[in-house]
Amino acid sequence: MNADNSVAQRHRVVVIGSGFGGLFACKHLRKADVDITLISKTSTHLFQPLLYQVATGILSVGEIAPATRIVLRKQRNVRVIMGEVDDIDVEGGTVTSRLLNQDTITPFDSLIVAAGAQQSYFGNDHFATYAPGMKTIDDALELRARILGSFEEAELATDQETRERFMTFVVVGAGPTGVELAGQIAELADRTLDGTFRNIDTRDARVILVEGAGAVLAPMGPKLGGKAYQRLEKMGVEIQLNAIVTNVDARGVTIKDGEGTRRIESACKVWSAGVQASGLGKILAEHSKGTETDRAGRVVVEPDLTIKGYPNVFVVGDLMSVPGVPGQAQGAIQGGTYAAKAIKAEVEGKQQPQERKPFKYFDKGSMATVSRFYAVCQIGKLEFSGFFAWLAWLALHLYYLVGFRSRFVTVLEWFTSFLGRHRGQMAATEQWVFARLALEALDKPDDARELAKQIGGESAPESGKSVANTRAAEAS
Ligand SMILES: Cc1cc2nc3c(=O)[nH]c(=O)nc-3n(C[C@H](O)[C@H](O)[C@H](O)COP(=O)(O)OP(=O)(O)OC[C@H]3O[C@@H](n4cnc5c(N)ncnc54)[C@H](O)[C@@H]3O)c2cc1C
Repeated sequence: MNADNSVAQRHRVVVIGSGFGGLFACKHLRKADVDITLISKTSTHLFQPLLYQVATGILSVGEIAPATRIVLRKQRNVRVIMGEVDDIDVEGGTVTSRLLNQDTITPFDSLIVAAGAQQSYFGNDHFATYAPGMKTIDDALELRARILGSFEEAELATDQETRERFMTFVVVGAGPTGVELAGQIAELADRTLDGTFRNIDTRDARVILVEGAGAVLAPMGPKLGGKAYQRLEKMGVEIQLNAIVTNVDARGVTIKDGEGTRRIESACKVWSAGVQASGLGKILAEHSKGTETDRAGRVVVEPDLTIKGYPNVFVVGDLMSVPGVPGQAQGAIQGGTYAAKAIKAEVEGKQQPQERKPFKYFDKGSMATVSRFYAVCQIGKLEFSGFFAWLAWLALHLYYLVGFRSRFVTVLEWFTSFLGRHRGQMAATEQWVFARLALEALDKPDDARELAKQIGGESAPESGKSVANTRAAEAS
């Protein structure tokens, strides 16, 4: 056990999570007379909205995930430590985090919990084996290797049925991530990979977007959802609405809809259908009387984003449950900023917790890209789509990307990807596909032998298996 015994003269703030909520909280405390410890299980600040571009070979990981300690290098009142928080003692004012075998206890006077959310499979966690989600860098790299690996397998297939299975891509969930991914897989097949194989025509690939609800981009309303639908159809994406995925295995997905149960044979599947809040929500609820979580595991907070009875414990971002605040970057940024300002005002003696004004969310709108040069955009009552929406999307994402270098390189990558057909990040390795499963097996040693058999045998996740020996799939 590693107790953090650094003698703190000043008010101690602990921030959990280096996503939008955590990073913006730290930045807004830069001039405060406090000592901040930022604890995160990942070493980077991940810009999740562009993960799908890493998965489809447009951007590199570095562009969307700068190292948090480098981002905060000049902010002398922050210390960054890596570790997964597995306990919060709200009464005693400590956070316990773990890095490999080492536990660290960090005391706090104020705490900001910004641990975000993870993929939800609605109780069917075993689907994840064959249909990874899109939440982390590992997810995006795994997916890239699965997509490119599928084309490699198709090239080697000796019968039409197998070839078709490897050239069928199923994206589950038609929210912004699903729409963006489906669009980019289609463009990858139609433009970037076109002409790079000899036995297959990548333009024959099927991209199927499966959605349980009756609309694409449902939260953005029928007009923009309809526009996205039309655009995707024009690109050849097959959209299946009111279709519930009831099983996922190595060879495909089983779907139930109005006409009954059917199969789609597909080697490469991706899940973007739901989110579940970080398990820290449950821990907070268990450790503090009267705190509740909602169905997605998010913490129901007080109007000042704190938990009942603990005005020094804030919960922000995807982990907080506040009516009318969507699980989007703006909710996290505004929540993190609000908490930081409240702590600063208290430390400066300008405002006591009971004097805080309730958190007010300012809806700046939402947007999603469907293809190059085409996005849908909603700002207040204004709804628009097409090229200008895409330009707005481009500008906004560049604005929020952290670091001048990231912005500069990203603009260059976008320039070559969208104007030409080149994608600069087409490397993929076998480990990207199988490492997650091997790591999961380490937690369950009894299952490891069975898993090893599976990986080498019939029911292994098939896409990517022959992306062997760190073979890079080059395309221009
Ligand atoms: C693929 C994808 C696309 C998206 N697209 C958009 C978009 O276009 N527009 C938009 O507005 N929003 C989008 N979002 C949503 C947006 O990214 C989130 O709402 C936002 O990141 C939430 O910020 P957060 O700080 O609450 O959590 P996150 O950004 O998820 O950060 C959570 C942090 O907590 C850390 N953490 C988690 N658990 C622990 C633990 N136990 N111990 C220590 N650290 C922990 C994580 O490592 C991470 O650093 C998208 C999300 C995804 C996944």
